[in-house]
Amino acid sequence: MDLSDLNGITSSFGDTGPMPLLFVGHGNPMNAITDNEFSRGWREAGEALPKPNAILCVSAHWETKGTFVTAMEKPKTIHDFGGFPRELYEVEYPAPGSPGLAQETKRRITATEVGLDHEWGLDHGCWSVLRHLFPDAGVPVIELSLDRTKDPRWHFDLAKELAPLRRKGVLIAGSGNMVHNLRMIDWKATEGFDWAREANDQLKRLIAGDGSEKLINYRSLSREVQMGVPTPEHYIPLLYTLGLKEEGERVSFFNDRTELGAISMTSFRIG
Ligand code: ZN
Repeated sequence: MDLSDLNGITSSFGDTGPMPLLFVGHGNPMNAITDNEFSRGWREAGEALPKPNAILCVSAHWETKGTFVTAMEKPKTIHDFGGFPRELYEVEYPAPGSPGLAQETKRRITATEVGLDHEWGLDHGCWSVLRHLFPDAGVPVIELSLDRTKDPRWHFDLAKELAPLRRKGVLIAGSGNMVHNLRMIDWKATEGFDWAREANDQLKRLIAGDGSEKLINYRSLSREVQMGVPTPEHYIPLLYTLGLKEEGERVSFFNDRTELGAISMTSFRIG
Protein backbone atom coordinates (compact mmCIF):
# COMPACT_ATOMS: atom_id res chain seq x y z
CA MET A 1 0.00 0.00 0.00
CA ASP A 2 1.37 3.41 -0.95
CA LEU A 3 0.51 5.65 1.98
CA SER A 4 1.41 8.81 0.12
CA ASP A 5 -1.00 8.02 -2.72
CA LEU A 6 -2.36 11.43 -3.63
CA ASN A 7 -5.00 9.92 -5.86
CA GLY A 8 -6.92 9.08 -2.74
CA ILE A 9 -7.42 5.83 -0.99
CA THR A 10 -9.94 4.31 -3.36
CA SER A 11 -7.12 2.80 -5.37
CA SER A 12 -4.83 1.85 -2.50
CA PHE A 13 -7.27 0.58 0.16
CA GLY A 14 -9.41 -2.42 -0.72
CA ASP A 15 -13.14 -2.59 -0.04
CA THR A 16 -14.07 -4.01 3.35
CA GLY A 17 -17.17 -4.53 5.44
CA PRO A 18 -18.09 -1.50 7.58
CA MET A 19 -15.25 -0.94 10.05
CA PRO A 20 -16.55 -0.59 13.64
CA LEU A 21 -16.71 2.92 15.11
CA LEU A 22 -15.29 4.03 18.44
CA PHE A 23 -15.88 6.76 20.94
CA VAL A 24 -13.25 6.80 23.66
CA GLY A 25 -13.24 8.74 26.89
CA HIS A 26 -9.55 9.72 27.26
CA GLY A 27 -9.57 11.54 30.62
CA ASN A 28 -6.34 12.11 32.49
CA PRO A 29 -3.30 12.27 30.13
CA MET A 30 -1.48 10.00 32.62
CA ASN A 31 -3.62 7.13 31.32
CA ALA A 32 -1.18 7.12 28.40
CA ILE A 33 1.57 5.66 30.59
CA THR A 34 -0.41 4.04 33.42
CA ASP A 35 -1.45 0.43 33.63
CA ASN A 36 -4.99 0.77 34.98
CA GLU A 37 -8.51 -0.41 34.22
CA PHE A 38 -8.92 2.19 31.48
CA SER A 39 -5.68 1.50 29.62
CA ARG A 40 -6.41 -2.22 29.89
CA GLY A 41 -9.91 -1.59 28.52
CA TRP A 42 -8.38 0.22 25.52
CA ARG A 43 -5.95 -2.65 24.92
CA GLU A 44 -8.77 -5.18 24.97
CA ALA A 45 -10.84 -3.01 22.62
CA GLY A 46 -7.86 -2.78 20.23
CA GLU A 47 -7.33 -6.54 20.26
CA ALA A 48 -11.01 -7.14 19.46
CA LEU A 49 -11.01 -4.85 16.38
CA PRO A 50 -10.25 -5.95 12.84
CA LYS A 51 -6.95 -4.39 11.77
CA PRO A 52 -7.78 -1.07 10.08
CA ASN A 53 -6.06 0.29 6.96
CA ALA A 54 -5.91 3.68 8.67
CA ILE A 55 -7.42 5.63 11.56
CA LEU A 56 -9.30 8.93 11.41
CA CYS A 57 -9.36 10.47 14.87
CA VAL A 58 -11.64 13.33 15.93
CA SER A 59 -10.10 14.77 19.09
CA ALA A 60 -11.51 17.20 21.64
CA HIS A 61 -8.09 18.84 21.67
CA TRP A 62 -7.96 20.18 18.13
CA GLU A 63 -10.44 23.04 17.83
CA THR A 64 -10.10 25.35 14.85
CA LYS A 65 -11.96 27.98 12.89
CA GLY A 66 -12.84 25.99 9.80
CA THR A 67 -12.27 22.26 9.31
CA PHE A 68 -8.84 20.74 8.77
CA VAL A 69 -7.28 17.30 8.37
CA THR A 70 -3.67 16.48 9.11
CA ALA A 71 -1.97 15.71 5.80
CA MET A 72 1.70 15.20 6.69
CA GLU A 73 3.66 11.97 6.17
CA LYS A 74 4.92 11.90 9.75
CA PRO A 75 2.66 13.57 12.33
CA LYS A 76 4.53 14.69 15.43
CA THR A 77 3.44 13.69 18.92
CA ILE A 78 2.06 16.84 20.57
CA HIS A 79 2.38 17.09 24.37
CA ASP A 80 -0.50 19.52 24.76
CA PHE A 81 -0.78 19.65 28.56
CA GLY A 82 1.06 21.19 31.49
CA GLY A 83 2.33 20.10 34.89
CA PHE A 84 2.73 16.37 34.32
CA PRO A 85 5.79 14.19 35.03
CA ARG A 86 8.66 14.29 32.53
CA GLU A 87 8.14 10.73 31.40
CA LEU A 88 4.79 11.73 29.88
CA TYR A 89 6.52 14.40 27.77
CA GLU A 90 8.99 11.81 26.53
CA VAL A 91 6.31 9.56 25.04
CA GLU A 92 6.33 9.44 21.26
CA TYR A 93 3.65 7.75 19.15
CA PRO A 94 5.39 7.39 15.80
CA ALA A 95 2.44 6.27 13.66
CA PRO A 96 2.74 7.42 10.04
CA GLY A 97 0.24 9.88 8.59
CA SER A 98 -1.70 9.27 5.39
CA PRO A 99 -1.72 12.17 2.92
CA GLY A 100 -3.85 9.97 0.68
CA LEU A 101 -6.57 9.53 3.30
CA ALA A 102 -6.39 13.26 4.10
CA GLN A 103 -7.09 14.04 0.43
CA GLU A 104 -9.88 11.49 0.32
CA THR A 105 -11.47 12.93 3.48
CA LYS A 106 -11.31 16.43 2.02
CA ARG A 107 -12.94 15.12 -1.17
CA ARG A 108 -15.75 13.37 0.72
CA ILE A 109 -16.77 16.39 2.78
CA THR A 110 -19.08 18.77 0.94
CA ALA A 111 -20.51 20.72 3.91
CA THR A 112 -17.40 22.89 4.05
CA GLU A 113 -14.02 23.40 2.44
CA VAL A 114 -11.55 21.19 4.32
CA GLY A 115 -8.00 22.49 4.72
CA LEU A 116 -4.99 20.15 4.49
CA ASP A 117 -2.89 20.80 7.58
CA HIS A 118 0.88 20.32 7.78
CA GLU A 119 1.48 21.85 11.23
CA TRP A 120 -0.55 19.94 13.81
CA GLY A 121 0.18 16.26 14.42
CA LEU A 122 -1.30 13.94 17.02
CA ASP A 123 -2.53 15.57 20.22
CA HIS A 124 -2.96 13.63 23.44
CA GLY A 125 -6.69 13.13 22.80
CA CYS A 126 -5.56 10.72 20.09
CA TRP A 127 -2.14 9.36 21.01
CA SER A 128 -2.77 8.75 24.74
CA VAL A 129 -5.46 6.24 23.70
CA LEU A 130 -3.98 4.96 20.43
CA ARG A 131 -0.77 3.84 22.09
CA HIS A 132 -2.91 1.32 24.02
CA LEU A 133 -5.33 0.46 21.19
CA PHE A 134 -2.50 -0.05 18.68
CA PRO A 135 0.76 -0.32 20.66
CA ASP A 136 2.96 -0.96 17.61
CA ALA A 137 1.96 2.41 16.02
CA GLY A 138 1.88 0.63 12.68
CA VAL A 139 -1.49 1.93 11.42
CA PRO A 140 -1.46 5.37 9.70
CA VAL A 141 -3.39 8.07 11.59
CA ILE A 142 -4.94 11.35 10.52
CA GLU A 143 -6.85 13.83 12.69
CA LEU A 144 -9.93 15.83 11.76
CA SER A 145 -10.33 19.14 13.59
CA LEU A 146 -13.45 20.45 15.31
CA ASP A 147 -14.74 23.72 13.87
CA ARG A 148 -15.54 25.64 17.04
CA THR A 149 -17.90 27.99 15.21
CA LYS A 150 -20.38 25.22 14.29
CA ASP A 151 -23.31 23.79 16.25
CA PRO A 152 -23.80 20.15 17.30
CA ARG A 153 -26.13 19.28 14.41
CA TRP A 154 -23.60 20.54 11.89
CA HIS A 155 -20.98 18.17 13.35
CA PHE A 156 -23.44 15.26 13.43
CA ASP A 157 -24.31 15.83 9.76
CA LEU A 158 -20.67 16.27 8.74
CA ALA A 159 -19.86 12.87 10.24
CA LYS A 160 -22.34 11.21 7.86
CA GLU A 161 -20.25 12.33 4.90
CA LEU A 162 -17.41 10.15 6.18
CA ALA A 163 -19.49 6.95 5.95
CA PRO A 164 -17.83 5.55 2.77
CA LEU A 165 -14.46 5.55 4.55
CA ARG A 166 -15.70 2.82 6.86
CA ARG A 167 -15.89 0.47 3.88
CA LYS A 168 -12.30 1.27 2.98
CA GLY A 169 -11.14 -0.15 6.29
CA VAL A 170 -10.82 3.23 8.02
CA LEU A 171 -11.42 3.19 11.76
CA ILE A 172 -13.18 6.42 12.73
CA ALA A 173 -12.71 7.25 16.40
CA GLY A 174 -14.03 10.18 18.41
CA SER A 175 -11.99 10.99 21.52
CA GLY A 176 -13.36 13.18 24.29
CA ASN A 177 -15.30 12.57 27.49
CA MET A 178 -19.08 12.29 27.80
CA VAL A 179 -18.91 14.06 31.15
CA HIS A 180 -16.06 16.54 31.51
CA ASN A 181 -16.18 19.43 33.97
CA LEU A 182 -12.66 20.65 34.73
CA ARG A 183 -13.87 23.30 37.19
CA MET A 184 -15.46 20.65 39.39
CA ILE A 185 -12.75 18.02 39.09
CA ASP A 186 -11.44 16.43 42.28
CA TRP A 187 -8.05 14.84 41.55
CA LYS A 188 -8.34 12.66 44.65
CA ALA A 189 -11.76 11.22 43.91
CA THR A 190 -11.75 7.70 42.53
CA GLU A 191 -15.45 7.87 41.67
CA GLY A 192 -17.67 10.46 40.01
CA PHE A 193 -20.02 12.71 41.98
CA ASP A 194 -23.69 11.67 42.03
CA TRP A 195 -24.61 14.19 39.31
CA ALA A 196 -21.76 12.95 37.08
CA ARG A 197 -22.90 9.34 37.42
CA GLU A 198 -26.47 10.38 36.70
CA ALA A 199 -25.42 12.38 33.60
CA ASN A 200 -23.36 9.43 32.42
CA ASP A 201 -26.32 7.05 32.82
CA GLN A 202 -28.71 9.41 31.04
CA LEU A 203 -26.35 9.87 28.09
CA LYS A 204 -25.71 6.13 27.87
CA ARG A 205 -29.41 5.37 27.72
CA LEU A 206 -29.82 7.78 24.80
CA ILE A 207 -26.77 6.39 22.98
CA ALA A 208 -27.97 2.79 23.37
CA GLY A 209 -31.56 3.64 22.49
CA ASP A 210 -31.44 5.70 19.33
CA GLY A 211 -31.64 9.03 21.14
CA SER A 212 -29.57 10.90 18.57
CA GLU A 213 -31.96 13.86 18.29
CA LYS A 214 -31.88 14.39 22.05
CA LEU A 215 -28.10 14.00 22.09
CA ILE A 216 -27.72 16.64 19.36
CA ASN A 217 -29.98 18.92 21.43
CA TYR A 218 -28.11 18.14 24.64
CA ARG A 219 -28.64 21.70 25.87
CA SER A 220 -32.28 20.72 26.46
CA LEU A 221 -31.38 17.68 28.57
CA SER A 222 -31.27 17.51 32.38
CA ARG A 223 -29.46 19.72 34.85
CA GLU A 224 -26.99 16.87 35.46
CA VAL A 225 -26.07 16.79 31.77
CA GLN A 226 -25.56 20.58 31.77
CA MET A 227 -23.15 20.18 34.69
CA GLY A 228 -21.40 17.36 32.86
CA VAL A 229 -21.07 19.20 29.55
CA PRO A 230 -20.23 22.83 30.43
CA THR A 231 -18.26 23.24 27.18
CA PRO A 232 -18.84 21.36 23.92
CA GLU A 233 -15.36 20.20 22.83
CA HIS A 234 -15.17 16.92 24.81
CA TYR A 235 -18.78 16.05 23.95
CA ILE A 236 -18.88 16.79 20.20
CA PRO A 237 -16.55 13.88 19.22
CA LEU A 238 -19.26 11.44 20.34
CA LEU A 239 -21.65 13.01 17.82
CA TYR A 240 -19.19 12.05 15.06
CA THR A 241 -19.23 8.42 16.19
CA LEU A 242 -23.00 8.41 16.56
CA GLY A 243 -23.58 10.20 13.25
CA LEU A 244 -21.98 7.26 11.45
CA LYS A 245 -24.08 4.56 13.12
CA GLU A 246 -26.06 2.55 10.60
CA GLU A 247 -29.51 1.05 11.13
CA GLY A 248 -29.38 -2.04 13.31
CA GLU A 249 -25.76 -1.68 14.44
CA ARG A 250 -25.07 -2.71 18.00
CA VAL A 251 -23.58 -0.37 20.62
CA SER A 252 -21.30 -1.88 23.27
CA PHE A 253 -19.95 0.14 26.16
CA PHE A 254 -16.59 -0.32 27.87
CA ASN A 255 -14.55 1.59 30.48
CA ASP A 256 -17.99 2.54 31.76
CA ARG A 257 -17.10 4.47 34.88
CA THR A 258 -16.92 8.00 36.25
CA GLU A 259 -13.90 9.21 38.22
CA LEU A 260 -12.21 12.35 39.59
CA GLY A 261 -15.65 13.61 40.56
CA ALA A 262 -16.49 15.15 37.22
CA ILE A 263 -15.10 12.91 34.43
CA SER A 264 -16.76 9.98 32.68
CA MET A 265 -14.42 7.50 31.01
CA THR A 266 -17.33 5.71 29.35
CA SER A 267 -16.45 4.57 25.85
CA PHE A 268 -18.35 2.65 23.22
CA ARG A 269 -17.93 0.65 20.08
CA ILE A 270 -20.52 0.54 17.32
CA GLY A 271 -20.58 -2.44 14.93
ZN1 ZN B 1 -9.20 15.93 27.04
